[in-house]
Amino acid sequence: MKKIEHIGIAVKNIDEAEQRFAKLLNTLSYKRETVESEGVVTSFFKTGESKIELLAPTRPDSPIQKYLDKKGEGMHHIAFEVDNIDQKMAELKQNGFVLINEQPKDGADNKRIAFIHPKSTGGILVEICQDKTK
Ligand code: ZN
Repeated sequence: MKKIEHIGIAVKNIDEAEQRFAKLLNTLSYKRETVESEGVVTSFFKTGESKIELLAPTRPDSPIQKYLDKKGEGMHHIAFEVDNIDQKMAELKQNGFVLINEQPKDGADNKRIAFIHPKSTGGILVEICQDKTK
């Protein structure tokens, strides 16, 4: 894992959360992006080397909506950047981690992403991501 690429935060209302985080971080969101396949709208903030990713549902059957129903707003996942996601996924599997995705999928911010199940990380949803442009 190269670094913490971003921290994902589940929110109910993307507009309100964007305003709140703009105040908190003293910087504006640099990108808003909808990932229709996931039923999520994302908004990104830069904080030094890392980013904050706000995630809000775009429809009732969105995984983020299910998360909000169960746990409410708050920290959703930590994302680590990797050089080679296919290799890292194989390595994680070999080391006993349970992957939610069998194959990397397209995420926001030009990334290939995969999630590790919280049951194999002590309760933390972990995303690994590879920049498609690198
Ligand atoms: Zn993420």
